[in-house]
Amino acid sequence: MTDWNSIVRGSLIGLEPYRPGASLDELKEAYGLDEIVKLNWNEGLEGPFPGVEEEVIAELDRAWIYPAEAYSDLRESVAAWLGTSPERIVPSHGIQALIATVAHAFLEPGDSVVLTAPTYGLYATTCAAVGARVVEVPSRELRHDVDALAAAARETSARLVWLCDPNNPTGALVERDEWERLLNGLPGRCAVVVDEAYAEYVDPAVRLDRLADVEAGAPIVVMRTFSKIFGLAGLRLGYAVVGEQLAELLDVVQEPFNVNRAALAAGRASLRRAELVEGRRLANVQGRERLAERLREAGATPYPSQANFLLVDVGVDDLALTDGLARRGFLVRAGSEFGLTGFVRITTGPTPLMERFAETLAEARGALLGGREVLEA
Ligand code: PMP
Repeated sequence: MTDWNSIVRGSLIGLEPYRPGASLDELKEAYGLDEIVKLNWNEGLEGPFPGVEEEVIAELDRAWIYPAEAYSDLRESVAAWLGTSPERIVPSHGIQALIATVAHAFLEPGDSVVLTAPTYGLYATTCAAVGARVVEVPSRELRHDVDALAAAARETSARLVWLCDPNNPTGALVERDEWERLLNGLPGRCAVVVDEAYAEYVDPAVRLDRLADVEAGAPIVVMRTFSKIFGLAGLRLGYAVVGEQLAELLDVVQEPFNVNRAALAAGRASLRRAELVEGRRLANVQGRERLAERLREAGATPYPSQANFLLVDVGVDDLALTDGLARRGFLVRAGSEFGLTGFVRITTGPTPLMERFAETLAEARGALLGGREVLEA
């Protein structure tokens, strides 16, 4: 028998793969439900924009041809939408792919990277897999502690700081002066990788313009995705916005043809309907505020969020509550999974759905508080 542990990269030993859990069909069967509402992965619940599906289907005629290598159409559409140049756009099959690309482009075994705890889990796993040392900085009142992040970067001569903004799982947004303090506090030979997966949900009045920082030559990598407000998570499409020199270097690491034709067509078609983004943002704000209000009425404590999810202190066992909600047809994320015992993270969406969910949460939470429901072993 081959002992693969002795052959693969040593840094992989002891790391766990991402385990997505039971499928929707398995859960429906287990709980005897006809329908399950996914509020656990922060996908854009409204799905693709009108007209996108037709363009994807039409593109399938060309499924046998490799994608246009330079992705120039998508680069140009994204650049025009953002108001920057196509040379700064690096398409990829989702931010997840970019995280690996960045890790491979920047890190040698033994290098340090700095990130907040809690934050999106893939940065730490990916960096550890390439042999980097992951330095975690605790959040402060569930917000990024930018001064501590910069100090940790200086102390460890870190190569990268990972900054998820708004942060997953908290929804908290970095403020302008915090961002400037972080950039100004970095050591030399260190870059900030900013995951802006939820940027389109952020109130424009407080949204930071990091594209201007990229154009000004700051040491930053900005990552965006079509998985959230554009409703295309299943097609896997994202992009980085970076300086032109770095764009070329990232393309050395990324495999050619890493974005498929269907995703490219969907991205282009979505951007032709970009005027719909603002309506979706506002609908999310409305749904999120209504949910927060209802949760407070029910005795829970939602935290401020600028994304399409809410982190909530539920005041009961989060695993038991998550289980109770699943049995009632709603999937949410248990805070224990990212070290926040007693919290759940809920994807937000249209107001009527949020009303329905809040009612169910109040019932499931009430059942736990009344001791009428115990976590099934
Ligand atoms: N970054 C963050 C912060 C996320 O929450 C997610 C999705 N849960 C992703 C990246 C994944 O993005 P993509 O679908 O583009 O790979």
